[in-house]
Amino acid sequence: MRKCSLQNLETVFEKISESMTLYIPADTKDGADFTKWTKGVQMSQALNTNRSAKDFFFPQTEDLVEFKTEGKNIEVIDTRKESEDFAVFGVRACDVKSFDILDRVFLTEPYDSYYATRREHGVIFSLACTRPAETCFCGTFGINPAEPGADVSMWKTDSEMFFEANTEKGKEILKKLESVTQSADASDVDGQKKKTGEIMKKLPLSDLSAEKFGKGMTSKYFDSPKWRELSATCIGCGTCTFVCPTCQCYDIKDFNSGKGVIRYRCWDSCMYSDFTKMAHGNSRNSQTERFRQRFMHKLVYYPDNNDGMFSCVGCGRCLNKCPISMNIVKVMKTLGGEDNE
Ligand code: SF4
Ligand code: SF4
Repeated sequence: MRKCSLQNLETVFEKISESMTLYIPADTKDGADFTKWTKGVQMSQALNTNRSAKDFFFPQTEDLVEFKTEGKNIEVIDTRKESEDFAVFGVRACDVKSFDILDRVFLTEPYDSYYATRREHGVIFSLACTRPAETCFCGTFGINPAEPGADVSMWKTDSEMFFEANTEKGKEILKKLESVTQSADASDVDGQKKKTGEIMKKLPLSDLSAEKFGKGMTSKYFDSPKWRELSATCIGCGTCTFVCPTCQCYDIKDFNSGKGVIRYRCWDSCMYSDFTKMAHGNSRNSQTERFRQRFMHKLVYYPDNNDGMFSCVGCGRCLNKCPISMNIVKVMKTLGGEDNE
């Protein structure tokens, strides 16, 4: 294990930036978001970023290919630019887990080479939580916020930052940081881990259980009359899908730039009325069906296809951002038979 004083964190940032682009969570006018580090950019004290770290591997929009025509000839141009090394610093345990969920989608057939290249070139420095919030429920899905994982795990105390490598990539980068860090003992962060565990036990969602969901539960919940009541005020804005670190639906479109046609992809939302619209129309015509799709996918369909793994990491973003205060916790409690808060 290595460590540095918080006062010297900037020297660590400088060192990382010598070999790759570095992104850190920095304060913005309405919270915090990952920002490219340049001298003077300070690390935010916020618990988590508004947007998750999935943007680095699965960006909101990206060009896939460009076509240029001249007479009867079509030139196909590979426009990808995602092969630069980069590091993302301060990713929380919930968002680290979201990469496993996304990997199962993008790295199995049909293999997504755009996502894969970014995964290859990205180094993740995770950060253990010291002040989990009332909207956090990562423990429901077996995530320990004091053991965040990824390439390098980090723990922050009042005066120091600790680093532990978990992968070859992590070992390599910590080696490069030896000149700006000192050796440390793993037991130095035991107290911090214990404090986090104690806070987690006291959080309002600490006893939320996912036991009633998972593999083989489609027939139990699909026709539940509760979907209508749960979705009654959903305005289909898609905010919950866009802030979610595990949502991975996208659309592919062509755009004529005047100089050629650019084929790009952009995030889409199963909450939108034109989602998966086909020549015959839309397969889900009501907001209730669309709403059901989102939560069934996270709680039943994804686990059905992925050895029981849920497609929610309990980050709490949808609890904070939905304009009608609807969220996956209310869905779980209502469908599972508990009180609707
Ligand atoms: S954020 Fe809320 S209102 Fe918007 S689509 Fe999601 S559940 Fe519906
Ligand atoms: S469904 Fe909500 S709590 Fe779960 S991962 Fe997505 S945004 Fe986070």
